[in-house]
Amino acid sequence: MIHRVLPTEKASRIMNVSRGGRPPSPAMMIAAPLPDDVSVSFEFFPPKSDAAAETLWNAIKRLEPLNPAYVSVTYGAGGTTRERTHNTVTRIANETAMPPAAHLTCVGATREEVDAVAQSYWDTGVRHIVALRGDPPADASQYVPHPGGYDYASDLVTGLKNIGDFEISVAAYPESHPEAQSAEADLDNLKEKIDAGANRAITQFFFDPEVFLRFLDRARAAGITIPIVPGILPVTNFTQTAKFAKMCGTNVPYWMHTDEDPESRKLVAASVAAEQCRVLHANGINAFHFYTMNKADLCYAICHVMGVRAPAASQL
Ligand code: FAD
Repeated sequence: MIHRVLPTEKASRIMNVSRGGRPPSPAMMIAAPLPDDVSVSFEFFPPKSDAAAETLWNAIKRLEPLNPAYVSVTYGAGGTTRERTHNTVTRIANETAMPPAAHLTCVGATREEVDAVAQSYWDTGVRHIVALRGDPPADASQYVPHPGGYDYASDLVTGLKNIGDFEISVAAYPESHPEAQSAEADLDNLKEKIDAGANRAITQFFFDPEVFLRFLDRARAAGITIPIVPGILPVTNFTQTAKFAKMCGTNVPYWMHTDEDPESRKLVAASVAAEQCRVLHANGINAFHFYTMNKADLCYAICHVMGVRAPAASQL
């Protein structure tokens, strides 16, 4: 149950998708947002092999015409992909028109080492960092700050601001970070990151739009005013997602599980994510961050439904 009332303008958009003044026919009564109303961003991870690089670059090239606000590249758990993240970010900066955002974590490095990575981004013209504490390496059961390193994401944000006036995105958790003492403590931590200089929060993935909307209400009530962008994960691998969700405290409704063939799985994934975005948009959300898993097709389709299309397609 969503509690918000649709603003009149938005409600009228939802009722009338016609752009030429024609009244909508029953077949057109679809909640399609207008293209200039929605902004998207895409997250990729750095490839491990030449074949994976080809897959990634096919995805990047396919999604580029959708004109994302930025595209981000993750930093492997335990700080394991420093070089590969850097190379991918630099290549996006050099070979595409999309502004790159480099993920950077505190894990396994001294402040000097992290600062050197950030400085090299600044020197190559990369101005957007997604600043994270990071998850511990696979062989460690819990996070332990590196001696001489940044302890938490808020410390990293402070350090980054000393290097340059980066645009900084940080993580937020609609269902709370698993290590947080309470939901309130988690919001206090988000506030600390904002006080240190963060401009935007991107959320962990979630599946119930109401969970996000309640979180947003709590954040606004706590005085947090920066954009909080929902992280959308189209689920093509239920087992893997459920495993990851357990670690990061996200609830996955069991009804999302399908044992169908991969094509059916994709159709379910696209429909669920598109519906999630539609409900969020109907409740005033107009920026969406997609966890692409380095594949373009589902995100492309969901964006199409959201009215975010390549220039030729948007004329239709
Ligand atoms: P923080 O904001 O530092 O918080 C982590 C926990 O520590 C919270 O429970 C907080 O309450 C607690 N805490 C904060 N400050 C203190 C303090 N002073 N004393 C005690 N406790 C404190 N991981 C990667 O490894 N690489 C990535 O590229 C990556 N990208 C991500 C992108 C997004 C959009 C999101 C949502 C997550 C991403 N993650 C990534 C996962 C993230 O690193 C983990 O969720 C990690 O466990 C927490 O990171 P954080 O930046 O939220 O940490």
